[in-house]
Amino acid sequence: MLNLVLFGPPGAGKGTQSQKLIEKYGLIQLSTGDMLRSEIAQGTTLGLEAQALMAEGKLVPDAVVIGMISNKLDANRDAVGFIFDGFPRTVAQAEALDELLKSKNESIAGMIALEVDDEELEHRLLLRGKSSGRPDDANPEVIRKRIKEYNDKTTPVADFYRNQNKFTSINGIGSVEGIFDLICAIIEKLRNAA
Ligand code: ADP
Repeated sequence: MLNLVLFGPPGAGKGTQSQKLIEKYGLIQLSTGDMLRSEIAQGTTLGLEAQALMAEGKLVPDAVVIGMISNKLDANRDAVGFIFDGFPRTVAQAEALDELLKSKNESIAGMIALEVDDEELEHRLLLRGKSSGRPDDANPEVIRKRIKEYNDKTTPVADFYRNQNKFTSINGIGSVEGIFDLICAIIEKLRNAA
């Protein structure tokens, strides 16, 4: 299995690059943001709980997203590998993910981080908000809150993987194809090392 964590702030391009990785490597994308939006669309209890937090740009509780990921891992036992997108977002989530994978004799091959400065992020998210229909993309205050949550709670997750020698970062500003080529080069290295 090839398990990757795609890392970066909101608007860094994780979703765009995930789509290309799915096509090229046949990996399964597990996006906790997409899963939560699907729960909201279906009007589930979980969705209702998450909706208020997401609308404010806050993280939903660790136990909620860990439970969702655990279910997806169980439901896709014969996957060639997973791309974790928007997860883990806290160190507690990263620890839980390691445990979940360990129980299946699997592990994370590497974390690939897309680096984009705050000003560019705000610009991209506001632009995305015009077409995405996502309420959290339409409001500059919520966007800033999401970037703050990322800087406060999610940045330490990079150190978690750095300490395991699994961290690589690349510049997330440039052409989609150029960034994809950089990611593929990292994946080839990870595969050769495996
Ligand atoms: P973005 O990366 O553009 O902010 P996501 O779709 O990944 O978008 O997440 C949207 C919102 O969903 C987040 O602001 C947060 O409220 C919630 N969320 C998604 N993933 C997680 C997670 N792993 N832990 C906690 N909250 C999450």
